[in-house]
Amino acid sequence: MFSIQIAIRHSVLLITAGLALSCASSKQANKSVSFASNPVVAHRGAFLKNKFPENSIASLKEAIRLGSTGSEFDVRMTIDDSLVINHDPAFQKLVIDKTIFADLRKLSLSNGEAIPTLSEYLQAGLTNNKTTRLVLEIKPSDIGKEKAVQIVTKVLATVKATGASSKTVYISFDYEMLKTIHQLDPKAITQYLNGDKSPEQLAKDGINGLDYHFSVFQKKPEWITEAKKLGLILNAWTVNDPAIMDWLIKEGFDFITTNEPELLLQKIATK
Ligand code: MG
Repeated sequence: MFSIQIAIRHSVLLITAGLALSCASSKQANKSVSFASNPVVAHRGAFLKNKFPENSIASLKEAIRLGSTGSEFDVRMTIDDSLVINHDPAFQKLVIDKTIFADLRKLSLSNGEAIPTLSEYLQAGLTNNKTTRLVLEIKPSDIGKEKAVQIVTKVLATVKATGASSKTVYISFDYEMLKTIHQLDPKAITQYLNGDKSPEQLAKDGINGLDYHFSVFQKKPEWITEAKKLGLILNAWTVNDPAIMDWLIKEGFDFITTNEPELLLQKIATK
């Protein structure tokens, strides 16, 4: 009898613990997909005003602190298959896809940070962040199609392993890379950067949005209407001119990528 009572008490405890855990994880899931309602994407993080290095963890944290809806960064792969965050093909004269990771890590950014790995960057982007999407640009590789697929596969695996899938948006100038992302993870959100595909073509290929230089939309304003009809995400880069910010806000762009997130946030707040 005594042992039956203990067994019952144990199972009640286990069920209660199980319910608490499942509530906690569903709350976590809900938290991870609520983003700020502004359209502000900080280009390479919020770097300019505070003189942080572009693509640094400091610039990412500042974009989060500001409450931007997104913070953009650039991903490249070293010759020994490490993913790192850097815009240019070279980091302090070392060409990233011809350099081993250990050699890159001997150098540092102007604020003393090491060149971040993708994993480190995503982890920083998941810390104290309830507002900001991680807008991950995969840089094209000149090494060939096989390398491009390898980069995409490793990026997706790293995002998944870090638990950042629901916070991440993928952008690229390389259309094939985006199509590969869509094949490997149909739920992943993708936006094309190069400005040479119609909204209709993007929708046909399963790409979720247009993220084009603002001049493309000035030349082809009909693409704004078409994109809206097709339910595609509208994003323009890199918008630092206040008048163009006003125009894109008026046109109802979902996202505006800028080096001046403070200015754009201020505009949104006063609209
Ligand atoms: Mg970029």
